[in-house]
Amino acid sequence: MAVNNAILLFGGTFDPIHNGHLIIARAVAEQLAVEKVILIPSAVPPHKMDQQISPAADRLQMTQLAVSEDYLFEVSDCELHRSGPSYTLETVLHFRQLCGPAVQLFWLIGADTISDLPGWYKISDLLEHCTIVTAARAGCEMNDWHLLSDKLTSPQILRLKKHVLQTPLIEISATEIRRRVKNNQSIHYLVPAAVNDYIVSGGLYQ
Ligand code: ATP
Repeated sequence: MAVNNAILLFGGTFDPIHNGHLIIARAVAEQLAVEKVILIPSAVPPHKMDQQISPAADRLQMTQLAVSEDYLFEVSDCELHRSGPSYTLETVLHFRQLCGPAVQLFWLIGADTISDLPGWYKISDLLEHCTIVTAARAGCEMNDWHLLSDKLTSPQILRLKKHVLQTPLIEISATEIRRRVKNNQSIHYLVPAAVNDYIVSGGLYQ
């Protein structure tokens, strides 16, 4: 991968990818002045194992369609080639190998994910290999920091808090999009037009 300074990694179920993801990713990328944003659809999100999730091929294709005309974004299918749960640490190590030691690796999460972090695989190690940046999310108070104290050191928690960025509050969720499609409501402007077309023509979320 031809980058010199920094990339922003953004993993998600992306079922489907929506404009909330894209708007916050671009806003964070601009603030951090990264050269690329890599969108990484996850195969089996460890925290969503009990939910029904669309096939990886559909989520990957929607993600590719969403950013096909934006030079800032690339899509990686690296998590889809691995068996078992998608661990962020493995993905970050994959990009470290790909980019070399000099490139700074940022990992983007939405504020609702902070409370999940204690359950992430080897979270303390992960923080030594990348910088987690958090985007505010409508309805999320971000007062879950104390939940991290069993797994992380105080300096690590401080570093997480320092990397909460000011981003537009976009009240869009994939859950709401799936609900709207099921109810025959429009999802125009919630997802890129090409993603809307893909969902409609494939009969997804019916
Ligand atoms: P679902 O509603 O199915 O849980 P989601 O909309 O949260 O999906 P995911 O693919 O699970 O989308 O999210 C990937 C990452 O993007 C998570 O860290 C999540 O917090 C973040 N994210 C998703 N939507 C937003 C949003 N509107 N604002 C800020 N962060 C978001």
